[in-house]
Amino acid sequence: MSDCLFCKISKGDIPGDKVYEDDNVFAFRDINPQAPTHILICPKKHMSTIMDMDSEDEPMIGSIFSVANTLATEMGLEKGGFRLVLNCGSGAGQSVFHVHFHLLAGRPMKWPPG
Ligand code: 5GP
Repeated sequence: MSDCLFCKISKGDIPGDKVYEDDNVFAFRDINPQAPTHILICPKKHMSTIMDMDSEDEPMIGSIFSVANTLATEMGLEKGGFRLVLNCGSGAGQSVFHVHFHLLAGRPMKWPPG
């Protein structure tokens, strides 16, 4: 989608500190980190929210969990624990309408999130 911020980062049209990329998924560091490690993991396919998903997207969304596993392993996050969060809709705190998971680590996490 031409005016989507994360689509532009995916294509390299605007800078992003990418830490992972394959044919379907990309990941980059959040510009306003909420934890010492804060990475956004996104499908390359533009979907505003997971409510735009259909069954053909299931493998691609599933691969996001594999990417989280890979990054957590590479970055040594498993021992301290990490959180994988998806906000759906502005009421839940979503501010960028391109599906993304937040991978947060490096500090104690509280529950429930605010
Ligand atoms: P949301 O609030 O939609 O769940 O998360 C959007 C995230 O995108 C926020 O954590 C915000 O800091 C991050 N973000 C917004 N604009 C940019 C940007 O231009 N570059 C990067 N790297 N992250 C951004």
